[in-house]
Amino acid sequence: MLEIKNLQVKLEEEDKQILKGVDLTVEAGKVHAIMGPNGSGKSTLSYVLSGRDGYEVTGGSATLDGEDLLEMEAEERAAAGLFLAFQYPVEIPGVGNMTFLRTALNSQRKARGEPEMSAAEFLKHIREKAAQLQITQDMLKRPVNVGFSGGEKKRNEILQMAVLEPKMCILDETDSGLDVDAMKLVADGVNALRDAGRGFLVITHYQRLLDHIKPDVVHIMSDGRIIKTGGPELALEVEKNGYADLKEGA
Ligand code: ADP
Ligand code: MG
Ligand code: MG
Repeated sequence: MLEIKNLQVKLEEEDKQILKGVDLTVEAGKVHAIMGPNGSGKSTLSYVLSGRDGYEVTGGSATLDGEDLLEMEAEERAAAGLFLAFQYPVEIPGVGNMTFLRTALNSQRKARGEPEMSAAEFLKHIREKAAQLQITQDMLKRPVNVGFSGGEKKRNEILQMAVLEPKMCILDETDSGLDVDAMKLVADGVNALRDAGRGFLVITHYQRLLDHIKPDVVHIMSDGRIIKTGGPELALEVEKNGYADLKEGA
């Protein structure tokens, strides 16, 4: 499903190589986690996959169901089924959450050549998702993220993911220091959306998140490369011994 081969990326502005040959395959139905020390290139990987400006791919490939992601514009990647969580944490005053989500969903459907959802169909769709995620009607109606608490923003990001029904979800838990409640929210959301047809790439600095989202595969990234891959026990090993041992062993 998501297949990354020898991906090499440098900054556009500076002559600095960040990803030095990343190999990674995430199969449908699986949750892969990437852990690694700060500055190892985890966020860069998620940004490059989602099509953010400022990075230059100097080698390798990334495909989703065989389609070349790197050739696509960011919107095309989204339409192809790639979702980067925490992509839309922005506040949009004056635009109701539901309206925003319906517009996003329909623009993706249009790009895929699918019919748009009518207002009535969408209402049914979003109500189902909201109920599944315990999201209140009030949150659906409020302007996007305006005045949302940290927890509500997280919940809303999970709702975006649920409504758009992507094939591949990338979550980059930056070093923002999620509190335990927010972490649990994210984990419950991911667990609710786990599906045989959907893959997840969960990037996290913290082992704690992986106590709640049980990954199928754990990768350790260091200095722009995946240096080790294993099962969930690898996350525990890192928690116990840190990254230094792994680097020496790599
Ligand atoms: P991680 O998410 O693993 O902490 P990042 O992908 O954020 O790592 O960063 C990897 C390296 O690339 C770091 O050394 C960081 O300073 C550098 N880097 C990433 N993006 C930029 C940028 N836009 N400008 C300058 N340096 C950057
Ligand atoms: Mg960082
Ligand atoms: Mg990061």
